[in-house]
Amino acid sequence: MRLRAQIIWGMGFVAVAVLALLFGFAYPRLGRTFTDIEQVDVRQDVDRATNALAAELSTLEVQSHDWASWDDTAAYVAGTKPSYVDENLSADTFMNLHLNLIAFFDASGRLVLAQAFDLDEGEAAAAPEDEMAAVASVVSPGRSPDDTSSRAGLLSFGDQVALVAIHPILNSAHEPPVLGTLVIGRTLGPSEVDRLAAQVALPLSVRGITDPRNDPGVVATLLGGDPARRQVAVVPLNAETVAGYTVWRDLSGVPVAVLGVEVSRDPFRAGLTAATFLLVATVVTYVLLGGGFLWFLDSRVLSRTARLTRSVAQIARDQDPAARVAVVGKDELGGLAENINGMLAAIEESSTALVQSERRYHNLFDSSRDPIYITAADGHFVDVNPALVELFGYSRDQLMTKTAGELYARPEDRDAFRAAIAGKGFVTGYPVSLRKKDGTLVRCLLTTIADKAPGTGEVIYQGIIRDVTELLRQQEELTFLATHDPLTGLLTRSALNDVLSLEIARAMRNLERLAVFYLDLDKFKQVNDIHGHAAGDRVLRDVAARLREALRASDTVARLGGDEFVALLPGIDSPKDAELAAEKILQALRDSFSDADLARGLSASIGIALYPDDGDDGTRLLQKADAAMYNVKNCGRDGWKRYDPKTDGPSRS
Ligand code: GH3
Ligand code: MG
Repeated sequence: MRLRAQIIWGMGFVAVAVLALLFGFAYPRLGRTFTDIEQVDVRQDVDRATNALAAELSTLEVQSHDWASWDDTAAYVAGTKPSYVDENLSADTFMNLHLNLIAFFDASGRLVLAQAFDLDEGEAAAAPEDEMAAVASVVSPGRSPDDTSSRAGLLSFGDQVALVAIHPILNSAHEPPVLGTLVIGRTLGPSEVDRLAAQVALPLSVRGITDPRNDPGVVATLLGGDPARRQVAVVPLNAETVAGYTVWRDLSGVPVAVLGVEVSRDPFRAGLTAATFLLVATVVTYVLLGGGFLWFLDSRVLSRTARLTRSVAQIARDQDPAARVAVVGKDELGGLAENINGMLAAIEESSTALVQSERRYHNLFDSSRDPIYITAADGHFVDVNPALVELFGYSRDQLMTKTAGELYARPEDRDAFRAAIAGKGFVTGYPVSLRKKDGTLVRCLLTTIADKAPGTGEVIYQGIIRDVTELLRQQEELTFLATHDPLTGLLTRSALNDVLSLEIARAMRNLERLAVFYLDLDKFKQVNDIHGHAAGDRVLRDVAARLREALRASDTVARLGGDEFVALLPGIDSPKDAELAAEKILQALRDSFSDADLARGLSASIGIALYPDDGDDGTRLLQKADAAMYNVKNCGRDGWKRYDPKTDGPSRS
């Protein structure tokens, strides 16, 4: 995926996560918070209204205290001041004190007077019987004469609820005994509710507990809670208004009225609006910031990076280290472009150096007179130089399809060569025989190293072939010349000594006999003298050939010089065999020579010494054979004799 797409996806993912967090968690959480605040506010309003009622009751109680502690009141209840009613319970009194009822009970709890008043009409009214029954029920007849405590609270009768204060009538010193009971009351009608509402500056409603307009669910909730604690129900009525309800109880703790407070939901709605605005502002900010960030990223980073990538890819395609990328800006991307250019410059430099080195190497490779090759591990040629092509006679293309092993005279030598190079990783002057296209053998020395091909790491062999065919031939010729007589091709004296030592050792090992013949041509000087030295040479060559013919292939023939020859005959069973061989040689020499002018019946004298019969030392055996030969000469030539210590004497040492 491209970088731009990755970033857009990443930011999109973050945006979705943030939105999910805001709208899935923060927004509902804020909503609940505002609901809680609204609940607390409504509860406080309900409390304020209830406190206002308590304040009214308290005022009522204070008023009852004033009246009940007045001696005239005590005198009126005792029946000693009948004028009390006319003097004190006027319409003004009810209007000023805002009372609907004043009632007096004597010490025994008997009603003395109940005076009602209609505040709306401003005139006295008859006290309703049910109201008086309710009042009488709370003026406990069984009270102790010493109980001077007063009470104030609600009282219900019929469908009406009233605020009442009940006070014991005492003397002005406010001391027991209780002389009677004063009850003053105020109906909790619409005007009284309006007064309370005006005090707390809240729209209030007070309905009887059984009023059908009450929400039964709300009433049930309020009555279901702990009566010791004030229960408040908060009920949103609609989007604009929320209501708080509580139950007011009478002096006996019986629920008598439901207070309702209706307040505006403006704070709640303002909170929600603020939260919504905050969320929208957050989203808009994120979108603006994200868009700005993307724009900046695109113009300052992504598009430049893409340009740089395209340039580098183009250079890679063109394989052109001389090319450079454009450097824009002095920031990190500009620095990167400069570094890439630096790298390209270094590559260009090293590639130029490589080309030059390659050229130098190829000049050497191509112009070398020694064949040079590179093969893969399996022997296939990777490269060969012209000298190698010339040496083997194949075309270069033919060679490139061959393996090195196919050029070996013996293919198994290739395995031996690989084993030899495996140890140290190189060989120098390793001798092998190779075969040219025309089948000719080439004897070579290989100098080869096993190397790892750069890049692949595969083993390759790099080697130089030294064609030593001619050199070896010359060496072999020199060796031959050093050990063979140039005239006859037979072994020389020094070579004979070596062969003689070897033959004695072998005879010793095999418990065999070895015969040593010392042969000298008879009167050879005459051949030279009569026919010339060249003819003498021809005779000597002919004699050599006849000796070779007369003897076995395993026998050795040498020319010691002049007309002296030595033959070594291994594997002789008995002296008799040696004598027969000597006879055979003499017979071969007697045959006519091809050159008719040469002396007929050339003869020779042969002395024989045997290993181990006559000794086990090569030099001594030769001397003994020589001595025996002289004995033959002395005895008339043309014959053979075995060494005889009696006639030949001990060998000269
Ligand atoms: P004898 O029977 O006593 O051996 O008599 P001889 O004539 O063979 O005398 P001798 O063996 O002592 O001399 C060998 C002669 O061989 C001497 C020399 O003239 C001749 N001779 C030696 N080397 C060569 C050679 O390389 N070529 C030729 N043509 N003759 C040689
Ligand atoms: Mg001789």
